[in-house]
Amino acid sequence: MTLLTEPVQAGFTAAVDQPYTYVRRELSEPDWRRYPGWATVTESEWRDAQWQRAHSVKNIEQLRAVVGDLLDERFYTDLAADQQQRATMSMLLPPQMLNTMAPHCAPERRTFTEVFYADPIRRYMLPVLSDRDPEWGSHPYAERDSLHESEMWVVEGLTHRYPTKVLAEMLSTCPQYCGHCTRMDLVGNSTPTIGKTKLTLQPADRQERMLDYLRATPTVRDVVVSGGDVANVPWPRLESFVMQLLEIDTIRDIRLATKALAALPQHWLQAKVVDGVNRVAHIAAARGVNLALHTHINHVHSVTPLVAAAARALIDAGLRDVRNQGVLMRGVNATADDLLDLCFALQGEANILPYYFYMCDMIPNAEHWRTSLWEAQQLQLAIMGYLPGFATPRIVCDVPYVGKRWVHQVVQYDRNLGISYWTKNYRTGLDLTDVDALNRVYPFYDPIDSLPAFGQAWWRESCGRPCGTALSVEYGSVTPASDGGTVPDQYGVVAGAGGGEDLASTAGRPSVILPSPSAATTLSGSFRNGHEPTETCARGKQFAGHAEPGSHRPSGLGHEQHAVRDDAG
Ligand code: SF4
Repeated sequence: MTLLTEPVQAGFTAAVDQPYTYVRRELSEPDWRRYPGWATVTESEWRDAQWQRAHSVKNIEQLRAVVGDLLDERFYTDLAADQQQRATMSMLLPPQMLNTMAPHCAPERRTFTEVFYADPIRRYMLPVLSDRDPEWGSHPYAERDSLHESEMWVVEGLTHRYPTKVLAEMLSTCPQYCGHCTRMDLVGNSTPTIGKTKLTLQPADRQERMLDYLRATPTVRDVVVSGGDVANVPWPRLESFVMQLLEIDTIRDIRLATKALAALPQHWLQAKVVDGVNRVAHIAAARGVNLALHTHINHVHSVTPLVAAAARALIDAGLRDVRNQGVLMRGVNATADDLLDLCFALQGEANILPYYFYMCDMIPNAEHWRTSLWEAQQLQLAIMGYLPGFATPRIVCDVPYVGKRWVHQVVQYDRNLGISYWTKNYRTGLDLTDVDALNRVYPFYDPIDSLPAFGQAWWRESCGRPCGTALSVEYGSVTPASDGGTVPDQYGVVAGAGGGEDLASTAGRPSVILPSPSAATTLSGSFRNGHEPTETCARGKQFAGHAEPGSHRPSGLGHEQHAVRDDAG
């Protein structure tokens, strides 16, 4: 049966004539002097990258020294509890980033705490325990290295996942640490609950081996130079690496990845850095190589005049483009208004191209940030038509063992259980000898708290079973949600009761060819998530080294609590 879907609202708040009304807004730098600890900080200090790094906030005492008693004690208690029990990243906030939280709030103790709690940038850069979902803190299939990047290292730090592209992780630190970091397995300092994996090679050795691989692999034409954040690579070392990449004539695209453009624009405004960018950009242009910078901005409040000035300086220095890859997160930017406000500020005021929004990855303790696939699909539809086409970002799901898929590329979607199925058209570095790799469907999961009561009950029950049986559910056996009837997917097709039908023959759906009926209709068929259903919870190994006291539902899936690694540092 094919049903018409409900009209899409997708979080719009303006509903008079147009769902969204564009109003040009000038960028503004919030006045840092509203914070007691910065009351005497001068403009020249604020613009100094070294001052920003030296005054970055790394712990609660330092946060108190800046904000003082503007924040109620309950916030500090909430923050300390999160750091002890849930945080996957340690605290590291450059003043520039902290200053974008509660940017317009008058410094009055009466209101500040509530505004700070609700602030979208605070919600992902400075998470507190009360933010997290008390029942489903982590999805049962959350993983530390959820994209399996290190499994695809061809040399330490060099992930070869797509046929023509590689990711070069130059280092494992950043000038700022985001609570939802997808590389939480590797990036940053260990926390009380997460012992980080360490890079073992010396940076010079690692980079030389990366370059050797790229010289020997002419099918790679695109290198994302990342980390961590390249703003933490000493500029001479980064320049040397990029110059050597430019000598490999098969490499045609180079992208430098840095969130610091928004969190520490002072770094990218330093004369020594701008001059260095100018040198490499001119050589790139002379050789016809596209050299660009990719940043990570999630909310319009992060786009300040200093950020725009840094992007402008880099464009003027010769970069082909500055692009944004944000992350879609509940409580941060998961409304059409938020996304469009951000994109218009980026595109119209800051010379930064809105490029992607990623659905938040399935790392531990991220459920309160993650959105369901259908919400992401609705948001994609809701932002179409407002921005120039070339500046309309795609919302993508980075499916483990697959790679980025546009959210409307899903081939089947069970909204009762919150499981979407994806295919791929290339082999990753792990599949090169796997004849079935392109004939599989690969799952991704909605946050469980977003599911109808039936789906939530199923997961609760499944988490009480051994791993294998938890996945051995016939797709077509799923019954409709009990709390509101059936749940249509985006094509108006009822998931669950009708979910086992042949996808290719369903009117209104895209015509797709699935590998085999069993692959499409059973979760225990040809199905890859790093965990074969017949294994006796091999996934337990994947969680080894990460303990999540009381939060991780996989205890019922056979994932016991594991000891914290002792390599804190
Ligand atoms: S800047 Fe990127 S790598 Fe660094 S903590 Fe944030 S998300 Fe992770």
